[in-house]
Amino acid sequence: MKKIIIAIDGYSATGKSTLAKGLARKLGYIYVDSGAMYRAVAYYAMKNHLIKEGRILVDELLKALTKLDIQFVFNPETYSSETYLNGENIERIIRTPEVSDVVSKISSIKEVRRFLVEKQREYGKNKGIVMDGRDIGTNVFPDAELKLFVITDLDVRVKRRLDELHSKGIYATEDEVKKNLLERDYLDIHRKENPLVQAKDAIVLDTTDLDRDQQLEYVLKLIQDLKLLENHSVQ
Ligand code: C5P
Repeated sequence: MKKIIIAIDGYSATGKSTLAKGLARKLGYIYVDSGAMYRAVAYYAMKNHLIKEGRILVDELLKALTKLDIQFVFNPETYSSETYLNGENIERIIRTPEVSDVVSKISSIKEVRRFLVEKQREYGKNKGIVMDGRDIGTNVFPDAELKLFVITDLDVRVKRRLDELHSKGIYATEDEVKKNLLERDYLDIHRKENPLVQAKDAIVLDTTDLDRDQQLEYVLKLIQDLKLLENHSVQ
């Protein structure tokens, strides 16, 4: 069967990664959480004191980039892949509010983006991949066979993100989560390098009233209706 690239973009906490994981599992594809890669760089900067009083020491961070080994390792117990940085499992810590507060500043640095985008393209070179993020359909894989742009009402996003954090034992208030989501939306939309924007050929998926099974079902049907997995005969 033909293998394709599925690019899922959208605002934070719209359910992109849950959908992407579900699709990857159903199709036997690899799943790459590009946001986790930006979070890994943000965590590295925090851990190595490359953020002083809210200011990122950009030159020092850029020098360190080649020392960053970011890997996704499948955990059979949780049945999902977890993010590792230089051998350390950082899956939980990169989701904390502290990392969320700085990640969009880190992701607006041109060189950081170029470094990570190259890695992201490498993951997709054999297709058979679902990747979620902000610039996947517009920049990382502009030729992706299926591009989705996910939107959700803000209050639903806040609730979903709170539930996700609480399930991981991470404490945050509703106001903190809302403020962080709005700040990141703003920075992601307004940055110069590859801002968050809907690709012209993306299909908009509003997940406000759809649970995860309904979202998955919708996209699988879309793939079928558009015959995306069928091989075209060569004339
Ligand atoms: O997807 P997630 O919310 O974990 O992403 C964290 C941050 O990483 C986003 O707010 C955004 O600033 C950045 N990001 C990005 N481009 C991507 C994926 C994430 O700039 N492709």
